[in-house]
Amino acid sequence: MKPVGKLDLNQMEASSSPRRLLRRLHTVMAGPGSAQARLDKVASVIATDMVAEVCSVYLVRAGQMLELFATQGLKKEAVHMTKLAMGEGLVGHIAETGLPLNLPEAAEHPKYVYRPETGEEIYHSLLGVPIVHSGNVAGVLVVQNRTRRTYTEEEVEVLQTVAMVLAEIIASGELVDPREIVHATTAPDQPAHFEGLALVDGVAAGRAVFHEPRIEITMLVADDVEEEKHRLEAGLETLRESIDQLMSASDIGGGEHRDVLDAYKMFAYDRGWQKRIFDAVESGLTAEAAIERVQQNIRARMLSTEDPYLRERLHDFEDLAYRLIRILLASGEDGGRSALDQPSVVVARNMGPAEILDYRSENLKAVILEEGSPTSHVTIIARAMGIPMIGRMQGLLAEVDEGDKIIVDADAGGVFIRPDDEVAESYLENIALREARAAEYLAQRDLPSVSKDGVHVHLHINAGLMIDLPSLDATGAEGIGLFRTEFQFLVSDTLPSLKAQKQIYSEVLDAAGDRPVVFRTLDIGGDKHVPFLPREHEENPALGWRAIRVALDRPALLRYQIRALLQAAEGRRLSIMFPLVADVSEFVRASELVKREERRLERLGEGLPAEIRVGTMLEVPALAWQLDSLLPEIDFLSIGTNDLLQYFFASDRSHPKLVERYDFLSPAVLSFIRSVVKACNRAEVPVTLCGEMGSRPLEALALVGLGLRQLSISPSAIGPVRVMIRALDIGDLESRLLPLLNSPEHSLRENLKAYAHEHAIPI
Ligand code: PEP
Ligand code: MG
Repeated sequence: MKPVGKLDLNQMEASSSPRRLLRRLHTVMAGPGSAQARLDKVASVIATDMVAEVCSVYLVRAGQMLELFATQGLKKEAVHMTKLAMGEGLVGHIAETGLPLNLPEAAEHPKYVYRPETGEEIYHSLLGVPIVHSGNVAGVLVVQNRTRRTYTEEEVEVLQTVAMVLAEIIASGELVDPREIVHATTAPDQPAHFEGLALVDGVAAGRAVFHEPRIEITMLVADDVEEEKHRLEAGLETLRESIDQLMSASDIGGGEHRDVLDAYKMFAYDRGWQKRIFDAVESGLTAEAAIERVQQNIRARMLSTEDPYLRERLHDFEDLAYRLIRILLASGEDGGRSALDQPSVVVARNMGPAEILDYRSENLKAVILEEGSPTSHVTIIARAMGIPMIGRMQGLLAEVDEGDKIIVDADAGGVFIRPDDEVAESYLENIALREARAAEYLAQRDLPSVSKDGVHVHLHINAGLMIDLPSLDATGAEGIGLFRTEFQFLVSDTLPSLKAQKQIYSEVLDAAGDRPVVFRTLDIGGDKHVPFLPREHEENPALGWRAIRVALDRPALLRYQIRALLQAAEGRRLSIMFPLVADVSEFVRASELVKREERRLERLGEGLPAEIRVGTMLEVPALAWQLDSLLPEIDFLSIGTNDLLQYFFASDRSHPKLVERYDFLSPAVLSFIRSVVKACNRAEVPVTLCGEMGSRPLEALALVGLGLRQLSISPSAIGPVRVMIRALDIGDLESRLLPLLNSPEHSLRENLKAYAHEHAIPI
């Protein structure tokens, strides 16, 4: 606290006894009388203590209105009469921004509006702060003076602390239904609809479960300040120990993970932060309330910055503050996440890839996020788990309450919160229909995927996690056409050991039994960050240092993985393929590493796989112009349309504005794929396709029409694609499709749809 100057009497009054002021407020709030009477008393206590002529309390009502609830100094008739919309006037501005305003001449501020019923024209200076409850602005607390003056920093602090304590009386629900505050954007219990970016398709319903349950701090004012200081000291000690443990347990190099931990550690040891919390305890708050109070300031400051790096840090800092609060409340380090006991939709700002796995159960129906992107790790894992997911919904958390009924329609990118009965019913019907269809696919699981004219199209699944393996039996797929080995690396904090890698690969082979498995070597870098590789800023990550490029520059990493694969496949068949090969020489260098590892095993007298096949993905268009020299070198080719087509069209695969711009069913794409398939057939090199394109029945129909006889697709697509193939006459389709490949159309989609319709082919 700054030394008190002789002339600064106001400040002396205000800052000399914040603890006493809190005590008095606490006594008033816990005392007898109606909530309104106590709030009136609170306003008068604050005005006296801060030597202000006016103290007013505005509370948020449903529909984003701020209502004057109590005042000392303004005209009493204005109470419950003066109302301001969010953003309207100075009070609305404070509520909207969540930031304090400190003005020597209120009327000079551009947001000032004059309300004659209040009689406020005689007051010049104004200090207003938001009243925050459970992370939402619940109201605004204002003091005013006749003189033109700037309030001191200490006074701002005191008023913010008082505002926090006021939240206690609001939380009691006696003045305003607390749901009105949480649902500041709609009336309480009203249905709400959010549009977002569909990250994993599907439709699901369930009750809302918050990923990070909001922490309610109920004890705000300390009974014994010394005792609170001890609690805080002990909590900080535990926090620092837990962070140190995290650092030492993670034997990691540089990278994102290390950055996050470094920041945690830095903050946990940050003296300024600790001092601010201790000061807040000194002013009379409990340790938990003091942390929250300091965090509110940091949040406000960081939210007012445009710098994305600082905003990201805010999240780290918030985690740390809540970790400390949880320690103090002794409710467990991870927020006491409990098993889902009913069909649930998990609601979060964002999530990590391992966190979604924590929820794995029958009851996890969908995930909805305020952030999230199509290529983030959590999306990759959710897709593998078949969990519908929608992201990029700003303001979602404020709109949902734990336990709310939620319907997620990821196919349309929409979320219905507390839907009315009609909406709910129609969706529940839709979900039941899907389930019935799933049961039908299940019944056809053992039927061969052979077309009406007797052509066998082999259907394999794309996989990457242990939880994918039961899909082999559940879908009746013939094998795993793409096993993305990087998932094990992405969800792990450290480089998986040789033993751990070998174990996973042999479990995969065990689960597959006689069915073939194609392991793709590490596809990391670009948007797939691993903690053990330095993360450098790249202008164009999709075109950057990734996949085989990383593997060839860090051959030890690739050799290690190949060694684990060879050992795991001892006595069995092993298929390895490399991602993102752009040049034949890259394939040759990578396959030489396989040979080297083979020779090493031979030298050591260890067992080898019964057969080793080495192939490549076709994800870079340039490779398609090297097929003459490539095909003699490889055992198989797998077309990865996810990457291939983004490079083909020079169009970011996750850019929301570009998602519908180019159609994969364009004559250009289809004739390109056709030429690759023909070249492979001529050279008698097996060709398959493992991009998401093959997972959609209409696209799969086109691909089969182009000559592909093996597709590797999402497990959930096996049933629909099998049903489509069994209804198809491939010879007839070819005669319709192939002549169209030179057409100038933007897309052949409508034409193919019409074909499917005419021939009663379910797509
Ligand atoms: C692809 O690019 O088509 C592919 C299958 O690889 P991923 O989606 O893992 O990049
Ligand atoms: Mg790819």
